[in-house]
Order: sequence, then C-alpha cells, then structure tokens
Amino acid sequence: MELIKELTTCITEVRKLREDLATASACPPLIPTGTTYAQITGRGTAGYGSSRRPLASQGSFPLPPTTSTLPLQIKVPTTKPALIITTKTPVGTRQETVEAFRKSISFGGAKYAPSKVSALAKNKLRVEFDSVRDCEDALRRLQDSEAAQVTAEPSKKLKPMIILKGISEDMPAEDLVGVLFGQNIEFDDFSEEDINFRFKRNNRNGKLYNAVFVVSPRLFRAAMLIGRIRLDHQRVYSEEFSPFLQCHSCLQFGHTRKHCRSEQIRCAHCAEPNHLEADCPTKGDQQAPPKCHNCAAHNARFPNKLNTQHRATSNSCRILSNIRAKIDNTIDYGQ
Ligand SMILES: [Zn+2]
Ligand SMILES: [Zn+2]
Ligand SMILES: [Zn+2]
Repeated sequence: MELIKELTTCITEVRKLREDLATASACPPLIPTGTTYAQITGRGTAGYGSSRRPLASQGSFPLPPTTSTLPLQIKVPTTKPALIITTKTPVGTRQETVEAFRKSISFGGAKYAPSKVSALAKNKLRVEFDSVRDCEDALRRLQDSEAAQVTAEPSKKLKPMIILKGISEDMPAEDLVGVLFGQNIEFDDFSEEDINFRFKRNNRNGKLYNAVFVVSPRLFRAAMLIGRIRLDHQRVYSEEFSPFLQCHSCLQFGHTRKHCRSEQIRCAHCAEPNHLEADCPTKGDQQAPPKCHNCAAHNARFPNKLNTQHRATSNSCRILSNIRAKIDNTIDYGQ
C-alpha cells in the first residue's frame, strides 16, 4: 500500500511538471538544452583552480548558430583598456592625484572621456577608456605633455585561461592546439600565439583528461561563445579556468591542499578542527546548519559581522567572493 501511495504521488508530480513545462515552452527558454547544472549556477564549487563561468558576467553576445539554435544571450566578462596614473611628486591623498590628473589632461574637444576612474593603492589611479584608441590617445598626450603632473602607463593584466574538459586519453596534449585550429572554423582568425597549453588535469573519468590553456583575451571570448569545441571525434566543453585557489584542508586562499603548510585541518562544513568535510559528523544533519570558519574568524576580530551560515568553500561566502573578485580583477578579458 505504501509503495502504491508513493507511486501515485510520483505520477501526480510528473503530470504537474509536464503541465508546467508545456506552459513554460510557450515562453522563450531561459537555459539552453544541454546546459549543465554547474553552468547554470555559473561557478562550480570553489577550490583547486576552479573552472567556471561558461556563461559569465558582463557584456552580452548572441550565441553562434553552430552551438545551438536557441536565441540565448551568452555573457562574457569584459576588461576595458586602462591607464595607471601616478603623480610625479608624492602626494598624501587620492584626491590630490585626481586633481593632478585633471590638470594634466583635458578631454574637451577630444570626442572621448575616461569611462571610469578608480583608486588604487599608493594614491595611484586606474583610468578606464571605452576603446583602445582612446586609451592610446590619452597615453600619448600625457607622455607628450611636459607640463603633465602625472605619469601614465598602460594597465597590464594577466591573460585569461580556459579549461577543456573530458578529452580522450588517445589525444596527446601536445597535439591539442593543432587539432583545435584544424577542426574549429571559429578559430580561423587565430594563431598559435593566441593559445598556450599549460597543464593537464585529471578528469573524474579515468579515460579522459582536462587541459588548461593560457589564451589571448580575444581567443578567450571566442571559446566562451563556442562553448563546445571539436577535438577529433569529440566535442568537449570549454570553460574559464580561474587562478583562484582555496585549500580544502585549512580553508585558506592562494594555495591548494597539496601545497598546504598548515598543521591544522578544518572542516569546510562545520568549521571544527581535526576533520575534513568528507568526514564531518554533522554534515547530513538538517538541524545543524553549515558554519563558515573564515567568516566566524572575521567576526571574532572585526565589528562588522558577516553571516556564517554557509560552507567555507561556498560562493555565497562574502570573504571568498571578495577574494575571487580581486583575482578576476587581475585578468584581461578584453572587450
Ligand atoms: Zn592550506
Ligand atoms: Zn565538520
Ligand atoms: Zn564565509
């Protein structure tokens, strides 16, 4: 009887879902077919050089028809060209740098202006422009002006990385770039200078592997738009590979468990020492919500209190997301 009751509930639920789907299909789909859960959530679990953001955060582009026929807008992050502005004589405040910058260059009649000015450490400024041409023009004018009170240099950022997931072990890593160019028409405009193989990583499936590449911002954008890349008989997923690292042993940032020098292991779920999340006694317990060790440690030291009810490796952690944002900020995504 119990089983029959359960089955009846299931059937009712499925029927309800079907009805909902029928209603939903009348509206434009929000998510393309074949999109994984990790893609929808945007970021996988934080951790060892995590890959993420197949559908990333700023700027939008129509999906090329080779991948899907759905009118999905894929978002790829952008980085605008920028100058780093330093005053020629030391100043005490950022405001003085802003003043010196204003006195050094005028944008009246220039047909462009900086799109964003932000403060950096040591009273420096980062001045963004909408185009490389505008940025180069401002740089040249500042360099040519003897009266300029500031010096300017182009803001240098790191190249982005991509990870290709689930490559067959039959395909040697050193052949990847050649095959990738030979088989994907979307990369016809690129050369080997745009992509460099970095390292292999294990895939959950022992017969497959993942490969990480450092790429030019332009190739990064193309790869994000294609989504799946043809490699011999396969179509493999390409995602951003973030240099963000969190140790799953001590829960600190900037290194991995393999390189951890801390004596103390700590649970990412309950924040207690001496066991890892996998061995946590309270993990399945509904009554025991997770507790973030890093946010709890912050709260013990500072007056501004953070919510601690999340895992220390969760993307909802304020400390983790701040560190991730800082790292994203060092990467040149192009535009
Ligand atoms: Zn560690
Ligand atoms: Zn625990
Ligand atoms: Zn936290």
